[in-house]
Amino acid sequence: MKSLIENLILPVEHTSKGLVFDCRMCGQCILHSTGLTCPMRCPKNLRNGPCGGVRPNGSCEVYPDKPCVWVQAVERAPRLPFWRDHIHHLQPPVNWQLQGTSSWINLISGADQVRPAGWDAKATRPNPQDKHEKR
Ligand code: SF4
Repeated sequence: MKSLIENLILPVEHTSKGLVFDCRMCGQCILHSTGLTCPMRCPKNLRNGPCGGVRPNGSCEVYPDKPCVWVQAVERAPRLPFWRDHIHHLQPPVNWQLQGTSSWINLISGADQVRPAGWDAKATRPNPQDKHEKR
């Protein structure tokens, strides 16, 4: 049963983030790591970059008429005033038990920080630019 706070916050989050980010209410928001591009708009719900099916023009493999969410994320992340490097953070698997809950409440309660056993929270994705700098 939802608390009074959830009943108050959920519609506000759903409406505001739905309008601005096309939010799918996953309950574990990583917009700051994706150039403010909702990764749950990816039809494969990928949280760590594009699949191998991105088309040469940057559109989605599943919906060719739409841009790949992750191509957008990579393009947008450097334009953010903050969190630019967060695009390189390795994201844990989606916790589907949080679907439909408030990511704002989960952020405060820490529910969005629960990781599967063995998950390395400090891990980051390799930055391709780092490789080039070492050459
Ligand atoms: S990452 Fe989750 S909470 Fe954040 S905008 Fe996307 S669906 Fe909504």
